Amino acid sequence: MKRIFQMAMVYGAVVTALLLCTKLGSRAVTTLSENKAPDREHCIVIDPGHGGEDGGAISRSGLPESTYNLEISQKLQDLLNLLGHQTKMIRTSDISVYTKGETLAQKKASDLKERVNFANNIPGAILVSIHQNHFPDDRYSGAQVFYAGTEGSRQLAEALQKAFVTTLNPGSHRQEKKSSGIYVMEHIQCPGVLIECGFLSNPEEDAKLRDPAYQKKLCSVIAATVSQYLSNT
Ligand SMILES: [Zn+2]
Repeated sequence: MKRIFQMAMVYGAVVTALLLCTKLGSRAVTTLSENKAPDREHCIVIDPGHGGEDGGAISRSGLPESTYNLEISQKLQDLLNLLGHQTKMIRTSDISVYTKGETLAQKKASDLKERVNFANNIPGAILVSIHQNHFPDDRYSGAQVFYAGTEGSRQLAEALQKAFVTTLNPGSHRQEKKSSGIYVMEHIQCPGVLIECGFLSNPEEDAKLRDPAYQKKLCSVIAATVSQYLSNT
C-alpha cells in the first residue's frame, strides 16, 4: 500500500513537471492523459556513474558521487517504468562493473568497457548516464548535458538542457555539449546522453542534490523529456 501511495506521489510529480515544462507544451500532457500504449521498441538504459571502489567526485558533505548517481537513477527508473517505458539499470547497488584488472586504473577501464557493452547489446537502447559535476571553485552550479555522436543524441541533449533551464535552473546559461573524451559516450552505438545533474562542489546545490524531494523533481524533468523525445522518434 505504501508503495502504491509512493508511486501515486511520483506520478503527481511527473504531471507537475510536465506542466512546468513550458517548452514541452501541451502535447506531452495530452500523451500522458491519453494513456498511450507502452513503447516496446526502445529500452532506456540507465547508467548510474561510478560505484564501488570508484566513488567519483566527493561532495561538500563528504559523500561520494556514486551514491547520488544511484539514488537518482533508481528514482528515474521508477518514473520511466510508470510512464510505460522499458528500462535496464547498469548497476543497482554500490559496485563497479569491471570484469578484469589489478590496479584501480585497469579496473576503471574495464568498468567503462562493460558499460558500453551493456548498452551495445540491448536492441533499441537509449543510454542515459547519470553523473554529478565538481569544480574547485564552489560558485558554479546547474545541470549540464553531454551527448554522444550517434544519431538522435544531440536532439535529446538539447531537449533535456532546455527543460533543466526552464524548470530547475532558471537563469542558467549552460548549454548541451558534444562529448569530448567521455569514454562511454564515444563508444556506444545507440543514442546517448550523460547528465551532470549539478555541482557537488557548490554547498547549496549539494544540499539540493541530496534531498529526495529535489531528486524526484529532477527525475520528473528527465523522465518527461525522454518520454517526449521517444514519442517524436
Ligand atoms: Zn562522474
